[in-house]
Amino acid sequence: LGYRLTDKQAMVFGLERRDGGLIEKLATLNIAPADVDIVINTHLHGDHCGGNTQFAANGETIVPTFPNAEYWIQRLEWADAILPNERTRATYLADNFLPLQKTGQLKLLNGDTPVAGGVQTVITRGHTRAHQSILIESEGKYGLYVGDMATLSYHFERTAWVTAYDVEPLENIETKRRWQHWAVETGATILFEHEPNRPVGVLRPKGRHFQLTVNSE
Ligand SMILES: [Zn+2]
Repeated sequence: LGYRLTDKQAMVFGLERRDGGLIEKLATLNIAPADVDIVINTHLHGDHCGGNTQFAANGETIVPTFPNAEYWIQRLEWADAILPNERTRATYLADNFLPLQKTGQLKLLNGDTPVAGGVQTVITRGHTRAHQSILIESEGKYGLYVGDMATLSYHFERTAWVTAYDVEPLENIETKRRWQHWAVETGATILFEHEPNRPVGVLRPKGRHFQLTVNSE
């Protein structure tokens, strides 16, 4: 969501941030914004890329939060975001992404893209037309950062449970079906961005459906 929210927006999102935001969290790992070289946006909905930019010292100009980073965004997602329609206008907020183009920090991707050793972006269409998730592989173990392919863990357990924000719900169902089977086959660790209770888990079959098990269970 970033740091440019009005009080009203913070209230609408029920934002508390008891432990600080992303920048404070990175600081605890000794990572400064200037150290970050790649930022990957799963998609450009306001609650997923508001942290791309921040106010400059003058409190008015909006500049990239990570001054030395390339921001990796799918080309089709970019196209949808810069020409929103009445359905998507409220969440594709230009201040979250246009400043990246101005400073030459934008890198547009055309489909699945390798990032660095064992990490790649993968198109997971449905929530948006060019939504991407992050696939991680290390020593034969897999992880998938789903983004909004499945907003909550329940959405990954049941294909038909989709959110009102999915612009292509039927595509999202097919995307989830494919990744559910992949998740079971690989035993991958699944990471959710919005899920408060089961943010990380492993998917297992349960009857006709699937169930996410958190590692301690
Ligand atoms: Zn979204």
